Amino acid sequence: MTVLSQMPSQRNETSLKTRPAGAERLRAGAERAHGLDGALAAALERVARIAATSLRVPSAAVVLLGQDRRCFAGGDETHPWLSRDPGALFRIGLANRVLESDQPLALTDARTGVADDGADTVDSLGIGGFLGIRVAGTSGEPIALVVAIDAAPRNWNRDEIEHFTEIAASAVSEIELQRRTVEAERIERQLRYDALHDGLTGLPNRTCFVERLRHAGERARRHAEDSFAVLFVDLDHFKVVNDSFGHLAGDELLVEVGRRLSGCLRSVDTLARLGGDEFALLLEEVHEPSDAARVAERLQSALRSPMTIRDSEVFTSASIGIAMSGRADDAPQHLLRSADLAMYRAKEHGRSRFEVFDPAMHTAAMERLRMEMDLRRAIERNQLLLHYQPVVSLSTGGVVAVEALIRWQHPDRGLIPPLEFIPIAERTGLIGDIGYWVLSRACEQLKSWERDFGYAAPQSVWINVSPKQFAQRDLADQVSELFTSLSFEPRRIKFEITESIMLEDIELAMRTLGELRRLGVQVFMDDFGTGYSSLTYLGRLPLDGIKVDRSFVSQMGTDIRQAQLVGTIITLIRNLGLEPIAEGVETDQQARLLREMGCAFAQGFVFSRPVPPREIDELLRNSAGR
Ligand code: C2E
Ligand code: MG
Ligand code: MG
Repeated sequence: MTVLSQMPSQRNETSLKTRPAGAERLRAGAERAHGLDGALAAALERVARIAATSLRVPSAAVVLLGQDRRCFAGGDETHPWLSRDPGALFRIGLANRVLESDQPLALTDARTGVADDGADTVDSLGIGGFLGIRVAGTSGEPIALVVAIDAAPRNWNRDEIEHFTEIAASAVSEIELQRRTVEAERIERQLRYDALHDGLTGLPNRTCFVERLRHAGERARRHAEDSFAVLFVDLDHFKVVNDSFGHLAGDELLVEVGRRLSGCLRSVDTLARLGGDEFALLLEEVHEPSDAARVAERLQSALRSPMTIRDSEVFTSASIGIAMSGRADDAPQHLLRSADLAMYRAKEHGRSRFEVFDPAMHTAAMERLRMEMDLRRAIERNQLLLHYQPVVSLSTGGVVAVEALIRWQHPDRGLIPPLEFIPIAERTGLIGDIGYWVLSRACEQLKSWERDFGYAAPQSVWINVSPKQFAQRDLADQVSELFTSLSFEPRRIKFEITESIMLEDIELAMRTLGELRRLGVQVFMDDFGTGYSSLTYLGRLPLDGIKVDRSFVSQMGTDIRQAQLVGTIITLIRNLGLEPIAEGVETDQQARLLREMGCAFAQGFVFSRPVPPREIDELLRNSAGR
């Protein structure tokens, strides 16, 4: 069962009606078909005329079989009923006799060829001698009758019958020619349609959209009042649906989204699917961003009610970017890119919302591009470095481990924090190389502390791993090779992953998790409570511990209920058999409360900020000396 088959057909019709281009196409098609019909009629009338003239009869005709039984008559004194009511031939039974016979039916007097009660009708129709033949198309099925009718009884000789047969055959080629032309036209129309439409949703595709955008731009240049808006719509977390329900379900969702979006439009607007989970809208005659914003709100609320996909309720939302026409550069590609940039901003600001493009976004995009280019060279230019933040035992106060936190020493911008460049690295794929660099650098650092401080050195180093790294198939292999080459003990590495790992390929992530743990690497969930997963879901992931996000910890001192919440979370984590670690501990009071709640390890400014390795040296030296 699919959801799509349950959709009321009425909605299908609405969505068709909202596509003016469809109507135009149909009309154009009909006109063309009419022109062809005209050509066929002329050709078949000519065939009839030739038959009438050469047999010297007042009328002859070609009667098409099929629903409409159109008749094309010719001759000097054509029987008037022939064109008006060719069905008469069937009612008196003559046509049927022709149809049943493999040979031409030649009747000296048609009255003898019909049933008794038909003879009068034959008289009144003015049929004397009758000659009829059935003609078949290339595939063998009968397609027409050709008849010659004399007013008086008539003896047909062999030559006449043979000649008549040849003339009738020429009708076949005319009809076949028309069929082939109609079919060729249909295929051509189909190809043209396919080139401009998305196969899945039937909506206009990118090519078609850009074309319409170009027209709209030209109109707006001629008449200032023809201003318009472009909306770029991107579904939020579409990947989750694809990954959890499969691609077919993802397709169903896209079709339903297309349907809902088109339900929000006026007939002059265009909705297109650009590809993947990206849609675009062209809103004509929109003058103010606020008009476009209202449409964006309508679109978002249309998506709000859940969709039933594969028997499951799926919730979806979209981030929307709006660009208005009327700037100096209204080239379609630029408008689309502006709307895309605004959409990007909507995502950055928390998704399920819309943003209107302003030129500052373009500046910001250029800035990102420059950062991206700089970041590509950062590794080889030795601009990346690691700071380390101690993980302390709440019972002894000793440093048990350190977390490696990356920084980028930019030549112009100074020290850049990870949240400003890790997302760029993730988007551009640089995260693979950077992640590997962090891992090897941190392992080397730990070895050097071990050399210098022996037992006082941190027992392990904790490393943040991006979900994108988990999507690399060879992560576990890389790690294992590195450990071998550094002769490094895997249990001294702890990976921190975040809940957004659920948004990547979850199967692959689970496999990698399993492989890492088989290597002996421990894995912790970082920033718990800020993401998507519930504690029960976490119970299914093979983890060693969970870091409780500082947003919980920071409010412990001020709010008793908040403190109780943290206590509950810590108990739940322990009940799952996992180790809780508190992040962002800033006061002694928080540290004490956490210890009382059964949390053994913590990090936070109250113990130490993340610092360069040589400051950790100092810390270790002091504690070793104590
Ligand atoms: P995180 O892994 O949750 O790291 C903790 C962040 O909280 C660090 O910010 C740290 O400086 C800060 N922090 C620690 N204690 C306190 C405290 O008591 N109070 C407050 N207000 N903040 C505290 P940082 O270094 O800017 O790192 C931010 C995030 O960047 C990290 O969050 C982590 O998700 C990511 N990150 C850092 N290094 C890497 C890396 O090498 N690879 C990847 N993929 N991500 C990294
Ligand atoms: Mg971390
Ligand atoms: Mg954290």
